[in-house]
Amino acid sequence: MITRWRLEPKPEDVEKYKQGELVEPQKPIVFYIDPATPKKWVKYLIQGVNDWQVAFEQAGFKNAIYALEAPKDSTWSIDDASHSAIVYKPSDIPNASGPHVHDPRTGEILETHINWYHNVMKLLHDWYFIQTAAVDTAARKMQFSDELMGQLIRFVSSHEVGHTLGLRHNWGSSATVPVDSLRNKKWVEANGHTPSIMDYARFNYVAQPEDNVTYPGLFPRIGMYDKWAIDWGYRWFPQYKTAKDETPELNKWIMSQLNKDKRYQFGTETDPSDPRNQNEDLGDDAMKASAYGIKNLQRILPNIMKWTKEPDKDYSDAKDMYDQLIIQFGRYMGHVAKNIGGKYTTPKSVEQTGNVFEYVPAAKQKEALEFLNKQLFTTPLWLIDKNLVGIAGASPVGSIEKVDVMVMNRIINIRTLETLLENEAYNGASAYTASQLFDDLKKSVWSELNSGKAIDIYRRGLQRAYVQSLVGLVALSANPAVISDAPAVARGQLIALRTDIAKAIPAAKGISKSHLQDMYAIIDTTLNTKK
Ligand SMILES: [Zn+2]
Repeated sequence: MITRWRLEPKPEDVEKYKQGELVEPQKPIVFYIDPATPKKWVKYLIQGVNDWQVAFEQAGFKNAIYALEAPKDSTWSIDDASHSAIVYKPSDIPNASGPHVHDPRTGEILETHINWYHNVMKLLHDWYFIQTAAVDTAARKMQFSDELMGQLIRFVSSHEVGHTLGLRHNWGSSATVPVDSLRNKKWVEANGHTPSIMDYARFNYVAQPEDNVTYPGLFPRIGMYDKWAIDWGYRWFPQYKTAKDETPELNKWIMSQLNKDKRYQFGTETDPSDPRNQNEDLGDDAMKASAYGIKNLQRILPNIMKWTKEPDKDYSDAKDMYDQLIIQFGRYMGHVAKNIGGKYTTPKSVEQTGNVFEYVPAAKQKEALEFLNKQLFTTPLWLIDKNLVGIAGASPVGSIEKVDVMVMNRIINIRTLETLLENEAYNGASAYTASQLFDDLKKSVWSELNSGKAIDIYRRGLQRAYVQSLVGLVALSANPAVISDAPAVARGQLIALRTDIAKAIPAAKGISKSHLQDMYAIIDTTLNTKK
């Protein structure tokens, strides 16, 4: 079901519409731009609205949607609920949102006031800088040209308008595109990096400098999924009197579209276990896409001091962009981590065959863990830059530990472990099991227990994050409402780890020794806590 505006042909155009001729609707969807909007951005906000016209043409309507500057008329008010508007809010919130008001009885959308916060431009700047500065020289500064910022505004305008047309986020859209296609200049410029602007797929961070991909392949835009979703939602079917009557035909549409091309796939934003449905990601393989993304971050990092330099300013922008770079690095780690203990959900109607639920193949889960071992657990030394530390005040120690904590909490948590345990119960030897996960994790995270090497500050942070995640799980066993094997698995791991740490302590020296004693004490206290 979709909430939607009432779009109907004029009575004199009904026959033309039925013949497939494009006609204007009786009442088009019109947005007014807040008169408080800085003049130079108005045309881009308008463009972002008008960009939807092609989608409505697919549903048989021309000039169905457009934006206008607010009338210079003293009787006109931005707060009037009888028209729709994009409201420019003088606020430091780095965001925008597209709500709407609809009649709950019919689902008819009545009006919308889009919230456009001034500082969404800060968000756009930081994304574009961190994701594309390796390939686009225009991104290598703190103050973009008006034309570049305008195009960024246009894309967000289209996304928010999409919500006000009744579309939800489609987080599965980006996962329908092979990673190699994102590097193929001809293909990606023609098709866009993601079939839906309703995904949270920002900019093409996979493209490498030698690929020479330009704006059409770097920016998100209204794509084939969006056009089709509008067609599905807005095509006028006078032959059906109720939504129920329409359903069989619409379902047939969905099935035939999906058979034609998987890029018509929808992926919900509310699935915590399906690695295809993620925000801020690109492509069908998180390991491959993230490896390319990291290569680009490695090109950007040594240039942060230079690219953030502005006359008469201090170094705070360099620090800020370093922090943004770490956040982007953390996103790549998160995208990969969701494959571990992952489970695909592909909604189907009863007319369709095949599984709705499938576990992520064992080889892929293992590959995800190997990626994390290589890119994160083995300290990413490239993130430590003496100039950024000494001059800009960057803090790689704290920043990397935050990523460690995020990833450990994601892998070692009740949902992941339960999925692994269930997969093992149903699929036996073909499953990636919880004990395999901990064997693999321990080999990399605790390698110093065998090698006897000193444990550096980054690795101490990593090991602390590992222990704290297990401690958190064991604590769940005190809660009678938690019915799960996960605390038992965690307790077993801590008992074994305590033994290994005890063996390693005598030979350890200095702060490595103190760290191991601390880990031992934390584990010991956790295991001895009476319920
Ligand atoms: Zn959104």
